[in-house]
Amino acid sequence: MITRKRRPPAALTPLMRQYRAIKQQYRDCLLFFRLGDFYELFYEDAEVASRELDLVLTTRDRDKPNPVPMCGIPWFASENYIQRLVQKGYKVAVCEQVEDPAKAKGLVKRSVVRVVTPGTYVGPEDTARTAVLAAVAANRRRWGFAWLDVVTGEGAATEWEPAPGEDLLVDLWTRSGADELRHPESWTRERLERWRRRGVTPARWTPLPDWVFDPRYARDAALRILQVETLQAFDLEDHETARTALGAILHYLEETQPLQANPIRNVRYQPVREQLVLDGTTVRNLELVRNAYDGTTRGTLLHTLDRTLTPMGRRLLERWILHPLIERRAIESRLDAVDGFYRRPAAIERLRRILQPIPDLDRVLTRVGFNQAGPRDLALLRQGLLQLPKLREALEEAEAAGILEPVRRCTDLLESLADELSRALVDDPPAVIREPGFIRDGYHPELDELRHAARHGRKFLVEMEQNERRRTGIPNLKIRYNKVFGYYIEVTKTHLDRVPEDYERRQTLTQSERFTTPKLKKLEHKILAAEERAYALEQEIFTALLARVREHLEALHARSADIARVDVVQALADTALRRRYTRPVLRDDLRLDIRNGRHPVIEAVQSDRPFIPNDLALDAESDQILILTGPNMGGKSTYLRQTALICLMAQMGSFVPAENAVVGLVDRIFTRVGASDFLTRAQSTFMVEMLETAYILRHATPRSLVVLDEIGRGTSTFDGMALAWSVLEYLHELGPPGPRTLFATHFHELIHLADLYPRVRNCSVAVKEAGDTVVFLYRVIPGPCDQSYGVHVARLAGVPDTVVDRARAILRSLADLESALEQSIGKATGRDLGPILPTASRRVTRRRIPRLVQRSLIETDPIYGRFEQFVHEIRNLNLDEWSPVQAWQYLDRLQKQFQGETTKEEDDEEPA
Ligand code: ATP
Repeated sequence: MITRKRRPPAALTPLMRQYRAIKQQYRDCLLFFRLGDFYELFYEDAEVASRELDLVLTTRDRDKPNPVPMCGIPWFASENYIQRLVQKGYKVAVCEQVEDPAKAKGLVKRSVVRVVTPGTYVGPEDTARTAVLAAVAANRRRWGFAWLDVVTGEGAATEWEPAPGEDLLVDLWTRSGADELRHPESWTRERLERWRRRGVTPARWTPLPDWVFDPRYARDAALRILQVETLQAFDLEDHETARTALGAILHYLEETQPLQANPIRNVRYQPVREQLVLDGTTVRNLELVRNAYDGTTRGTLLHTLDRTLTPMGRRLLERWILHPLIERRAIESRLDAVDGFYRRPAAIERLRRILQPIPDLDRVLTRVGFNQAGPRDLALLRQGLLQLPKLREALEEAEAAGILEPVRRCTDLLESLADELSRALVDDPPAVIREPGFIRDGYHPELDELRHAARHGRKFLVEMEQNERRRTGIPNLKIRYNKVFGYYIEVTKTHLDRVPEDYERRQTLTQSERFTTPKLKKLEHKILAAEERAYALEQEIFTALLARVREHLEALHARSADIARVDVVQALADTALRRRYTRPVLRDDLRLDIRNGRHPVIEAVQSDRPFIPNDLALDAESDQILILTGPNMGGKSTYLRQTALICLMAQMGSFVPAENAVVGLVDRIFTRVGASDFLTRAQSTFMVEMLETAYILRHATPRSLVVLDEIGRGTSTFDGMALAWSVLEYLHELGPPGPRTLFATHFHELIHLADLYPRVRNCSVAVKEAGDTVVFLYRVIPGPCDQSYGVHVARLAGVPDTVVDRARAILRSLADLESALEQSIGKATGRDLGPILPTASRRVTRRRIPRLVQRSLIETDPIYGRFEQFVHEIRNLNLDEWSPVQAWQYLDRLQKQFQGETTKEEDDEEPA
């Protein structure tokens, strides 16, 4: 689109020839071409930019037959426009004048100094946004993948055998959060198409020449850019394919950014087995960092846990969520740190006050490395550095443990750099160095002198203006300045007769004339020379400051990473306290025992009613598969997801929403949840369901957790049920030990699997029928459920009565079919199921069908009826008037009341 051919005008000016030569090399970018104080865009680039940025489209040579479309952006506002274009997926090449126009002979030399793409954009503003570049390499034996967050300098490189092949690539891509993926130019369209179908967004694949992926070239590029002799420290010497992928990223960065420093801080080879693997589907299904509705963080695990205060902390939290660990000691080290703060709420408060003003140091440091930093960036750096001693003191006092122990012991707090920046920069400096006055008075004696001279000269000008008015008797005589004529005396036409002899005429305007005098010229020279020198000196001082910062870059990055860790740990401890989470117990066995577990997100967003906690027990050796049945809307999906989230939270190092959780470490979490289709990927609902199922069956290990929420719903009942049945059988036959599996279904026939297979158990979500109403209790109880209430949910959703009634009638007439089905299930399994079948389905259709009314528990349930009353009572208490004893008595009374009612309630629930 950007390179659409258009016939050039017959004869190009030298400037346009220069433009076209440069554009030729950056055909896939919008070229920002510097002309004086503007960046100009020409031809199709101008059309795109004017449309995307709402700019006026003009033409360069209006009167010629084939005028060139153009639009311009003032240089000082360019950052904002670049950001907007990059966010829309465009690439921008910034072409500067690379020699001083005043000294240039003929056409000023220009060249591209920076290419900005979604994966490399590091803007000046303080956001938690990352910019992640990824690359993939492959040879006949292995795949390699590397990613680098150019904001934080963190990343990883990995490689693997062809076995998990492209599946793993898609997972790694999803979790890296990469904005762009670089691949060898020669890769076939089919291969890219396969990825597209798996969710790797096409707009972000970018080819690089094949030679960049030559292992020798990629290694040399990495050594050169990282300025090292060997890649041993990154553990990359023995991992050629991973190294090649990383080399390709570095090559690309070197080509497109004016690198002033090593862009990498924390990158190393990461064996695939070192992490809990979350496939792309699971990341989406569990809504870990983006929700399914609008792609924002609302309603996600990230949002629920996010009590971080710095952008570094926020980014690290996201990484922890997407990359949980599997090594017990590493997880315990995180948990120890969280635990330490959890036990000291006052320390959390103090740390939060210290962290609050710390800006995005990663962003600042990357801008320093990319040679884009201005005075404001260094002031932000200063602001962050000034907090370091306080942070260390607070950590010392809180006896920070686990992963925070080294942070607490760190002594390199860069105090002298902070001091230097404090002395050098004014309190609130401008963003760009072209605006003078950002160096503090008193920092540099020569600058002070020059400023004094300039200020003094200006004072003389004011005096001179008054003297001249007095001398000439011209009351409105003014001394002014402009760039072309310098300082001048302006006299309006009405007073021209009073102009003295020594005034030399400079310029005539309609209303006035402009003059100078020898004295004014002398003064002008003095002022301008002082200002010019002061301006140049300020730039020099700034360059020296930047060099000083660069000397400390490594330590600065390390401190920024420390801050991120402290921030994440305090956020997790704070959330744990607020939401009553507990520390999980991690085990190397294959069990999973959760007492009173809750769904962290639903619990947080559902403020109008309490969340009902539930227990869970799975064991790969004995209780491997749990089949969960129950009415629609009964809480099955919630239970499944909360289990997956509790495991994930435990392994990322967070406390968990449960009274007690014992987690036998999980190597992968797989989920197949709900029905969705990817029309854009040409896949139907059922196809997506089967692709996801196939993926799980191919990759699940005895250490995995498999969550299957409905299988076989997208096809005919018998097809679907048969598939669901055989999938469960397959998972069972993988053991013992077999992947711990939770399976929610509406195919009631599947509950018989528990009678056929030793490691399959049934459980269901309980409802209470009272008269012709049904209340969801959201309690998971042992044993299967006997009906689905689907028809009732349809009524609840507003499906017209005639349709609902007709559905009931059809359901009744299907009863015979169901009993025939049961018999054939008996045949298929070689067992006479007659006596053991609870004739559940028949009962559904034959007996009186209760009317399902979605009344809240508060209205219908005695205990929750009291709950509402209780909330009201608490709200209206006047605690100021109470003594501690009165408060105790009140609590005592409530406790007795609730204990009485809970016992009664549990009795009520005994199965009939
Ligand atoms: P369907 O079979 O129709 O998919 P489901 O059984 O999977 O339904 P969920 O989607 O899990 O039902 O739950 C429906 C709603 O019930 C949730 O959105 C939530 O508001 C509420 N809910 C679920 N579990 C609980 C719980 N334990 N405590 C309180 N409310 C709950």
